Amino acid sequence: MSKRIFLSLAHESGFEMQFIEDAFSSNWITSEGPNIVGFEKSLEDYLGKDMFVAALNSGTASIHLGLVVLDVKAGDEVICQSMTFSASANPILYQGATPVFIDSEKETWNICPIALEEAIVDRISKGKKPKAIIAVHLYGMPFKIEEVRAVADKYEIPILEDSAEALGSSYKGQKCGTFGDIGILSFNGNKIITTSGGGAVVAKSKIQKDKIVFLSTQARDNAPHYQHSEVGYNYRMSNICAGIGRGQIEVLDKHVALRRSMHDFYTSICSQIEGITVFEEPNQDYFSNYWLSAILIDPAKTKNNTTREDFRLFLESSNIESRPLWKPMHLQPIFEKYPYYGNNVAEELFENGLCLPSGSILSSEDRDRIKEAFHKFF
Ligand SMILES: *Cc1c(COP(=O)(O)O)cnc(C)c1O
Repeated sequence: MSKRIFLSLAHESGFEMQFIEDAFSSNWITSEGPNIVGFEKSLEDYLGKDMFVAALNSGTASIHLGLVVLDVKAGDEVICQSMTFSASANPILYQGATPVFIDSEKETWNICPIALEEAIVDRISKGKKPKAIIAVHLYGMPFKIEEVRAVADKYEIPILEDSAEALGSSYKGQKCGTFGDIGILSFNGNKIITTSGGGAVVAKSKIQKDKIVFLSTQARDNAPHYQHSEVGYNYRMSNICAGIGRGQIEVLDKHVALRRSMHDFYTSICSQIEGITVFEEPNQDYFSNYWLSAILIDPAKTKNNTTREDFRLFLESSNIESRPLWKPMHLQPIFEKYPYYGNNVAEELFENGLCLPSGSILSSEDRDRIKEAFHKFF
């Protein structure tokens, strides 16, 4: 059996060990230290636009504290893009709040601004104005920034920008992660860069950042003893993980270029196959890191009424990993009882969409095997 080709794997830069060794030799083996400060600074420089970054131990924790800072409390409603990973929505439940799910639009596969406005109007008419909007840049594709921002501003609801998959993406030259009232990043093992596990809040002010750091380190008041007047969390990134991050950020742009070349690879293969469309930037304002390359298979247009599941199983038989798109949250057993607004665009994407091996680490032999699989099957 040939070796397995994975969807997305971590890709070492070779610079990580030095930062980790520095942490050991200076005995900063804790959730404080020079690697954390250095990693945050590198991210701030990378994102530009006067951002303040707080490194935490996961993207999920970052969303959670983002909601805390946006004052989401038990009984509140929070709007969330339905087509996403469950980690976008779970922190709403951690706060005892109620998620309200919104469909996708067909161009970016992200939150539909029209369904978003319908939902807000309807929730307000029912007596509850949503506290926040969680919008996601799926697979690295920026959501419709201007349209979503216009709706959010019209009703004065803050945006929590889930940029977990979109570090290195941009819209009109501005980096993703910087568009929300608060933004979040993830450095999980399968993301565009990794700290083995980690995340960050992208804050808009020093005060906001300091608040996040305070909450993530058990909310200790300024006193010689342990004194607490707020609920605290143990969410800070460790100085060791931040060392991995410092090594990784040096190759972030290289990883983006490699992921984008995987996208081009699929575009060139699929242009010759009827019934397949590759997920693309709608126009030149959008720049995706193409964290994952994805396709839609329209069975009615393929030669033998092929479904995405037929193709997924075929790839699996060649030991090539692929995966259906995120199953929309409003179809998930844990979330199906909550309100949903839309026209089933996300359902259709889920039905026909497939994510393909996209890692920056894929070799030319891997590409040859993938290409051969496409040609053999279609
Ligand atoms: C990965 C991911 C998260 C969660 O990040 P973790 O670091 O794994 O906790 C949140 N939202 C989206 C869209 C993600 O892809």
